[in-house]
Amino acid sequence: MSEYGSHRARKRFGQNFLVDQSIINRIVESIDPHAGQHIVEIGPGQAALTRKLIAALGTKGSIDAIEIDRDLVARLVHEFDAGKLRVHQADAMQFDFSTLPTPLRVVGNLPYNISTPILFRLCEYEERLADMTFMLQKEVVDRMAALAGEDARGRLSVMLQYRFKIDKCFDVPPTAFKPVPAVDSSIVRLTPLGDKRLKPKDEKAFALMVTHAFAKRRKMLRNSLSAWVTPDGWATIGVDPKARAEDLTTLEFVAISDWAFANKA
Ligand code: SAM
Repeated sequence: MSEYGSHRARKRFGQNFLVDQSIINRIVESIDPHAGQHIVEIGPGQAALTRKLIAALGTKGSIDAIEIDRDLVARLVHEFDAGKLRVHQADAMQFDFSTLPTPLRVVGNLPYNISTPILFRLCEYEERLADMTFMLQKEVVDRMAALAGEDARGRLSVMLQYRFKIDKCFDVPPTAFKPVPAVDSSIVRLTPLGDKRLKPKDEKAFALMVTHAFAKRRKMLRNSLSAWVTPDGWATIGVDPKARAEDLTTLEFVAISDWAFANKA
């Protein structure tokens, strides 16, 4: 390699580096970078995706990358022209994405230990986002995409689906990485719904209610959400009080939250 020698993967930073070139190419195809665009990459690592993205972005495109590991930052700064790749040595959980040019196309093979918190963090920048394409644990992607009635449906499904269109692209086996992780991975794309997004009347109360409903997911709604909806409220909302949280569509969750808002429950 370079003067830096080989990098020893750090478990605490969730470092499983992509080594399968055909998978790397498929991920870049899913991201669909266009010449001249600007991309934000979380956790570029040893640049498996970064290198191909930079090539696809052409002379006028560039990447802002957020990497926590200072050894990897040093390598990235050494390898790439600063006009093509601006590396921010930072924790993506603390980084202020509003400092970057919009619209944001965010990509990354995310460290699995913080993947869900990062998704919620990026929701704060919803209006600035063009799209996000991530590699995540397959089980997390299944939860993100799960529809009403599916076992994997949970808080993550509802809290992302009211804001984003979620497309699962393809699965990635552990053998595509070094070191080999213990779990399967998947590529997922999130596209903000914009004007088609659902708009609960009180988003904080909506988030709280959804959390509450899934914390007691085996319970019927009339029990788990008794603090939100009175027994006679269910008929007005049009939701079966004997249903369980995982049976509900995202629209039905919004209807419950809006009823509670209107009735000051
Ligand atoms: N993109 C590379 C690839 O596909 O081979 C590396 C992916 S590896 C799964 C995750 C990367 O995220 C590592 O480079 C790791 O150092 C970095 N990372 C871990 N936690 C981070 C954090 N909180 N903020 C920014 N980067 C982080």
